[in-house]
Amino acid sequence: MMLSCRSCNARYDLRQAIWKCHCGGLLDITGDIEFSRDDIDSQRSGLWRYRKAIPVDPDAIVSFGEGMTPLLTLPIGGREVFVKQEHLFQSGSYKDRGATVLISHARSIGIREVVEDSSGNAGCAIAAYCAKADIACEIYVPESTSPAKLVQIEGYGAVLRKIPGTREDTARAVLDAAQDTYYASHSWNPFFFQGTKTFAYEVFEQLGWRTPDVVILPVGNGTLLLGAYLGFMELSQVGMIDRMPRLIGVQASACSPLARLAGGEESASPDIASSSTLAEGIAIAQPVRGKQIIEAVRHTVGQFVTVTESEIVDALNQTLRMGFFIEPTSAAAIAGVRKLIHSIPPDAIIVSAFTGHGLKAVEKIAKLAHPTS
Ligand SMILES: *Cc1c(COP(=O)(O)O)cnc(C)c1O
Ligand SMILES: [Zn+2]
Repeated sequence: MMLSCRSCNARYDLRQAIWKCHCGGLLDITGDIEFSRDDIDSQRSGLWRYRKAIPVDPDAIVSFGEGMTPLLTLPIGGREVFVKQEHLFQSGSYKDRGATVLISHARSIGIREVVEDSSGNAGCAIAAYCAKADIACEIYVPESTSPAKLVQIEGYGAVLRKIPGTREDTARAVLDAAQDTYYASHSWNPFFFQGTKTFAYEVFEQLGWRTPDVVILPVGNGTLLLGAYLGFMELSQVGMIDRMPRLIGVQASACSPLARLAGGEESASPDIASSSTLAEGIAIAQPVRGKQIIEAVRHTVGQFVTVTESEIVDALNQTLRMGFFIEPTSAAAIAGVRKLIHSIPPDAIIVSAFTGHGLKAVEKIAKLAHPTS
């Protein structure tokens, strides 16, 4: 396995402490993987049961026992849909999948400090695993970030850097810091996706070794969607599955650059107001891996779907009524499921996810939840 540049094809050893190519391009981890059902470490209950498929030194693993989140069937839009309970992670979102792998890798190559930028869940996850690994951590956030998330990040002992201006200003500030500190980025760093790919491994195992037909996920920077794509691609490369599920990315209408680009609109880096949606976790105006996300969705004959603010609120209320406390961003995915379900064949296996916990967004939910009348 090696680090490979998506732009110039340069190759690097996995243990080099880099997060992008010298040409500035994005890195992926490539190489022939070998994996079979016998390689699953059934002694472990969480995602590290797939460690033979994860290119990280097993002696360096930093873990809270994360993964193998329940896969429940729920009635949505008159059908039974499998919904993976990704809000039930240590730090309250599936970002822990990426953080456990990325921070384990960082530890294995002797990294003592990292920087990351986030407006929420990725920063929380990286800060939590750095606390466990005893790695110094600085999280850059937009000044306007909601206080609850700052409390969690600082509570874990990370240094907070509040940056005035937009999310893009924060991204620029962290890139300066990343000149001489390891950038534990959930969008740039390819090790993060080595963690989120376990979503696919788990779904396949939890469905009793069946391949889902359709996987519907919220998408901004694509850390979950690209992870799922990578995982299913690997399962297909080693011959464990014989077809790819259709991947469907859900975006908020108010900030939907991927849906627009995939739909044929020209601009490569759309700049759309990201502040105007409840789904703050996917309000990414300029996704770093945008092209890669669109290619992945097309390759699976999938699609993008957009949902309005009122559809998000309706989905949130419906989900709360079933006994699940999720954050509004997660409700966007469920709104997407409701919107598409009638165009999916009735016998299809549909998988979606609750990506983040509602306890992270209590004030927001308080304004949206309709009391029963
Ligand atoms: C990060 C996140 C997503 C998906 O985000 P990407 O930008 O596509 O990586 C979805 N829901 C929640 C709650 C998140 O934190
Ligand atoms: Zn390159």
